[in-house]
Amino acid sequence: SVSVKVINGREISDNLIEEIGREIAIRVEQGHPRPGLAVVLVGDDPASAIYVRNKIRSAEKAGVSSVVKRLEQDCTQQELDEVVTELNARDDIHGILVQLPLPRHLSEDRILNLIDPDKDVDGFHPINAGLLASGQAKLIPCTPLGCLEILQREFGDLTGKHAVVVGRSNIVGKPMASLLLQADCTVSIVHSKSVAAESLCQQADILVAAAGVPELVTDKWVKPGAVVIDVGINATEIDGQRKLVGDVNFDDVAEKCRAITPVPGGVGPMTIASLIKNTLVAAKQLDAEPQAV
Ligand code: NDP
Repeated sequence: SVSVKVINGREISDNLIEEIGREIAIRVEQGHPRPGLAVVLVGDDPASAIYVRNKIRSAEKAGVSSVVKRLEQDCTQQELDEVVTELNARDDIHGILVQLPLPRHLSEDRILNLIDPDKDVDGFHPINAGLLASGQAKLIPCTPLGCLEILQREFGDLTGKHAVVVGRSNIVGKPMASLLLQADCTVSIVHSKSVAAESLCQQADILVAAAGVPELVTDKWVKPGAVVIDVGINATEIDGQRKLVGDVNFDDVAEKCRAITPVPGGVGPMTIASLIKNTLVAAKQLDAEPQAV
């Protein structure tokens, strides 16, 4: 179809990071501290290493100073806890992110609970999840925040739209649904136990796919003229070639919808822009409310 719009997440992300960079430059000029981001990387998962490198590169573009704390694959929970506790105490660090997944012997819940909620730029601490759910959001998970940014920049007011979110994880699905609800959408959530996922999705004006199932969403799931946001990042092999595919069958669905995000180059870059934005938000907040000494 010639009329479908392929949303350029990379371009929106670059613009956003530039805007944030300008704001940071002005703040630093005015004497505010330069925002600082710490990324904790445990082990040697190659995909995690690439994600971390991209996050650091974008931080630097925006003028956010950054440190990477690397721990060995076989480090202890106590060693990891100590790294986070030290970062919690550092005045020059405003954002802390522990790259997931962690090696199996380490507890993700434990470490996410240990990060100072004021520095929790991934927005995964239960305090931040609760604030978002109760309409008092401070730090919002980066991927859903990036999806909302795309939707609002490209389509403006979302009031009254029926948004269907496929997936209910704490990282993507649930916070995405909260954000869309706060943007005055009517929101449905489908998951692996839903009996009528396909027919619900057919009613969506906005369809967000975050199931982690390659090309789950086909054209039959999509209402003509819908906006489709594909969060999925699935590594597959096609004819011996390694390739990333989303949770949406792009070629089929693009024929039918009004706009769609590609994989890669859609939601992925927006997730990183949101991280940089959250680091600035955290730095501003910590700057405005100095911690007790
Ligand atoms: P999870 O595996 O934690 O959650 C997947 C969700 O999808 C679950 O709620 C699951 O249901 C639901 N689901 C699974 N299969 C189906 C199905 N057949 N029909 C309907 N619902 C289904 O994944 P995440 O939320 O962490 O990530 C989702 C995808 O997004 C992945 O591909 C991931 O790689 C990608 N991702 C991309 C990011 C980015 O920056 N672009 C960032 C984070 C993730 P149930 O709860 O019942 O199990």
